[in-house]
Order: sequence, then C-alpha cells, then structure tokens
Amino acid sequence: MNNKPYKRVLLKLSGEALMGNDSFGINRSTISNITSEISKVFDLGIEIAIVIGGGNIFRGVAPGAQGMDRATADYMGMMATIMNALALQDSLKCIGVDARVQSALNIDQVVEPYIRPKALRYLEEGKIVIFAAGTGNPFFTTDTAAALRGAEIGAEIVLKATKVDGIYSSDPKKDPSATKYSNICFDEVIVRRIEVMDATAFALCRDHNLPINVFSIYKENALKRVVSGENEGTLVHI
Ligand code: UDP
Repeated sequence: MNNKPYKRVLLKLSGEALMGNDSFGINRSTISNITSEISKVFDLGIEIAIVIGGGNIFRGVAPGAQGMDRATADYMGMMATIMNALALQDSLKCIGVDARVQSALNIDQVVEPYIRPKALRYLEEGKIVIFAAGTGNPFFTTDTAAALRGAEIGAEIVLKATKVDGIYSSDPKKDPSATKYSNICFDEVIVRRIEVMDATAFALCRDHNLPINVFSIYKENALKRVVSGENEGTLVHI
C-alpha cells in the first residue's frame, strides 16, 4: 500500500476478462461494466494506458489452430488483441471517454502504429491509450507487452486485472484453505512459478522496479481502490 494515488498506470486486461461467463468472444454487459470501472479511474485524472489480451477471441479459433506453426498462430493471437482494442475503444467512447489505439503490428487503415512519444502525448492530453498487438513479436505474451510498455511510458505500476482478487497460496477454487497474499516479492513469484503472469513479464518488471498489483476487474471499485493506493488484491514488489 502506498497510500497515495498513482499518476500514471498501465492496466493489463486479459481477453478472457471480456468474455464474462461466455466460452469465447466479447460479452456486451461485461465490457460495459469494465469500461465503467475504468471511467471511475479516468475521472480521477489518472493517466491510463491499457494493454489488451486476445485469449477470448483466440479460444474461438483454437480448435482450427491446432497443430499450426507457432509463429503463425501467435500472429493470429496478436490480431485478436486488435479486435479487442477496437471493441474497448468503442465501449469507452459510448460513455464519453476518449481513447486511442496504437498497434505493434502495422494495420494502418484500422489503427495507428505504436509511436512512443505520441502515446505519451495522448496520456498528457488526458486520453486513454490502448496498446494492441502485444509486443508485435511471436513467442511473447500480452503480459510481457504490459511490462514492456509500462516501463517505456514510465508507468508507476502495472495493474494486472484478472477474474480472481489476487495471488493465492494455491488455487482458491480447488483448495478452500488457500490464503491470499497481500504482497509478495518478484523472486518468490518466479521461483514458485506462480502463473498469474508469465516469468518473462515478472522478470522485466523486477528488473525495472515496476511493481504489479493483481486484482479482480469484476469486483466493483477494486480498480479505483488500487489506483488510489489502497490495499486491494496482491502487490508484487522487489
Ligand atoms: N501474442 C504474441 N506476442 C505478443 C503478445 C501476444 O504472439 O507480444 C499472441 C500469443 O499467441 C497470445 C495471443 O497473442 O497467446 C493473445 O495474447 P495473450 O495470450 O497474452 O492474451 P490474454 O491471455 O491476456 O487474453
């Protein structure tokens, strides 16, 4: 807990968070609830950049992608994140929040490319920036993209939005005695192979002293509490 609001944050939103209880795709009321949680933080004047995943769309095509070349499948995954970014931008627009999408893969007719100074300018102008297409490279994840973009834009923290309200000693769905960590250090999450983010993302954040707060995006006001510096979810730190 740092007791004071953050000024600039990087929110990592997995594609799965957009599915709600559906088996794949984007659930309309779920995305509306998420954008409403984001707007509460936006209204506080906090600069927000978002890295969006693609797992929700990829689930729909996964059976057809079985046995595919890994890099090709990864490019498909990155394109899925662009679809989610557009859906999120549109949903934010519906509630009057101005957001720009920047993509790590060039798709100029649809979204502008990732240009760091321009992203920084948008943030300073009070716009949300949504980073699509992950790092632009296969064999990476959008968690790693969140760590990378977070470090690049000088975010004070990476907010990892999940369906669970933090990191537990074991899977709370299977083990009723599982306990939640209020904070845990990077070395421990890496050594214990805690899978809430991949090891590359954890290592990148650790090396740049960029803390991560894991919290539930489905819990009302949890995002607002995290950015306000309150104790919410699990803080991963050096
Ligand atoms: N991906 C990639 N490089 C990146 C980011 C993503 O190749 O830098 C691909 C990868 O196939 C991944 C998919 O895009 O599985 C969707 O991203 P991710 O699994 O991180 O999304 P999430 O699980 O957060 O929805």
